[in-house]
Amino acid sequence: MAVRVVASALNHLDLWLAEGQPRPKALPMVPGCDGAGVVAALGEGVTMWQPGDEVVINPSFACGRCPECLSDRSVHCAKWGIMGEHYWGAHGDLVLVGEANLVARPVGSSWEEAGSYGLCGLTAYRMLRRARLAAGQALLVVGVGGGVSSAALLLGVVMGARVFATSRDPLKRARAVELGALEAFGSAGDGAFPIKADVVLDSAGAPTWERSTRSLRPGGRLVLCGATGGAKVQLDLPKLFFGQQEVIGSTMGTFREFAEMTGLAGRLPVVVDQVFDLGEYPAALAKLRSGSQFGKIVLRHG
Ligand SMILES: [Zn+2]
Repeated sequence: MAVRVVASALNHLDLWLAEGQPRPKALPMVPGCDGAGVVAALGEGVTMWQPGDEVVINPSFACGRCPECLSDRSVHCAKWGIMGEHYWGAHGDLVLVGEANLVARPVGSSWEEAGSYGLCGLTAYRMLRRARLAAGQALLVVGVGGGVSSAALLLGVVMGARVFATSRDPLKRARAVELGALEAFGSAGDGAFPIKADVVLDSAGAPTWERSTRSLRPGGRLVLCGATGGAKVQLDLPKLFFGQQEVIGSTMGTFREFAEMTGLAGRLPVVVDQVFDLGEYPAALAKLRSGSQFGKIVLRHG
């Protein structure tokens, strides 16, 4: 079925694709992992939607029929893929998706919010779920400001955790506190951050690995979804096993998790940093590359 996109959002995958990493299977290629819009046309067999319905796109693709998909483990489906990388994405006028990839636009959300929470909200939600974050526990979000980290901050607050954040940028630290963090720490130095956390959420990889692991309390869980700053780290095994700690890798999420995250406390886990017109895509990419944003960079279509 076809969705006429009203708003879409940038992700780091847009930058990597623009640099040919990963190289698209064929050119031309339309990027864009996040989008929301209006159903424009139905495909054969579509029963869940009507033209004119306002929808949000889940960027995950899976077969929907294999044992992994049927047991809510679609992230392990052999056909697993992502809109905007393996399939044409949402930075266009129309995007083609399966009906299972849509949820109704949440009531009260702006188009910019609806079109930008998907990928990062899903990634952050699965990370916190896999790390078994519970109400009252301490969550440390390392390097707050990106899409996943700001979504994790908002989700952590909604889930009743005591949320802390780190950033080298004092403006980002102040924003994190405005959004519900109890405290935000600077990134200078190389010791542990001044908190012992039940869950540390980190997507930088090597640069913050040492400090993140040192900031875990006994029984704590470090959950990672990326390695933007470097992929190889050293693991101090005795510290890990004597501390009864866990290191958890996670990426994206399942269809059930997308629905749960969308409906969580009626609040979308998204902070919109700036809105560009679709025609200003190069300027939006440059803003993303600068790393100065707090939250999502959104494209408004038409
Ligand atoms: Zn499958």
